[in-house]
Amino acid sequence: MKLNIALLKGDGIGPEIVDSAVRVLNKIGEKFGHEFVFTPYLIGGAAIDATGEPLPKETVEGCLASDSVLLGAVGGPKWDTLPGNKRPEKALLGIRSAMELYTNLRPARLYPALKDDCPLRPDIVEKGFDILIVRELTGGIYFGDRGYRDGKYGEEAYDTECYSRLEIERICRAAFEAAMVRNKRVISIDKANVLETSRLWRKTIHEMASEYPEVTVTDMLVDNAAMQLVRNPSQFDVIVTTNMFGDILSDEASQITGSIGMLPSASLGATKRGLYEPIHGSAPDIAGQNKANPIATILSAAMMLRYAFALEAEALAIENAVDKVLEAGLRTADIAHGADALGTVEMTDAILAALA
Ligand code: NAD
Repeated sequence: MKLNIALLKGDGIGPEIVDSAVRVLNKIGEKFGHEFVFTPYLIGGAAIDATGEPLPKETVEGCLASDSVLLGAVGGPKWDTLPGNKRPEKALLGIRSAMELYTNLRPARLYPALKDDCPLRPDIVEKGFDILIVRELTGGIYFGDRGYRDGKYGEEAYDTECYSRLEIERICRAAFEAAMVRNKRVISIDKANVLETSRLWRKTIHEMASEYPEVTVTDMLVDNAAMQLVRNPSQFDVIVTTNMFGDILSDEASQITGSIGMLPSASLGATKRGLYEPIHGSAPDIAGQNKANPIATILSAAMMLRYAFALEAEALAIENAVDKVLEAGLRTADIAHGADALGTVEMTDAILAALA
């Protein structure tokens, strides 16, 4: 298979971790007989420095013409004082919207080898967890009608949440499909005791459930879900929820895994192409020092193989190689707790060796 991948390295540790993922993908190419063709494009602060824009037109066109997109991270103190629409982070919303990516998949898995990093009680950690959060990405309150006006108490600001049946159906379908290749359990998180959008959400997902008779759908209120994630995370398989609830809950879920440097994500739309990126930021505090953990980005590349290219064996090979190096006790500084740590390059070398 010959596949064209757009690389958006971005800022801070972005270039280092994307280079690691490229090395791993090349190894997979050799091993399984695929040719990956990588084309870099500018995004974020690097794009601002070179062109004055955080998301140049060529980057959008390049991503749309590619088979898939791998992103590092954007942002850093150098660009923090720029106005909102000129900031590096603006490029993230821009590329997601240009690629019409309405589904965000965020796995949060506790690695047995890293269970000491989990901040939860040992009896909870013992049960482990492997959660896939399916978050709606282009609708809801982050995109609704907003503004300022004169209200009862003078100046006031408002944001509105709006979800169409179509938007709910397509995100719930993504959750059902994901559940079918996992443990066939979906927990739909809403605030149906208060919000009208949540009541439509609930009605819609239950109407769709008959199309997936093997999948069990359970509703959970978001306040309860926030609590259940720390009380008993092992009860979750697939979570599906709105943009804002997903934003908050996925950060909570990432924290209970113990390390931000380990978690990948995928943003998908109607096509298979997708955008794959670690959940962390550009970590300017460790940029250029060979200290970044490359695993989140390497696992994002594995998600790309699985979701964009349907290369399940290749994706599993990467995930197994990561498991193997962790089981062998190899660690980057963020998960080493003062013990000997490998650099970004050396951790990548170890994963390549485990793939051999
Ligand atoms: P961050 O995720 O970059 O860093 C938080 C902490 O985690 C830092 O101490 C950092 O060193 C550490 N860390 C993050 N990734 C790591 C890795 N792979 N290995 C080892 N340690 C790692 O969050 P922040 O400091 O709040 O933000 C820094 C910049 O990144 C900001 O400009 C922010 O806007 C941007 N940001 C970008 C994205 C993105 O590109 N998707 C996401 C979040 C934040």
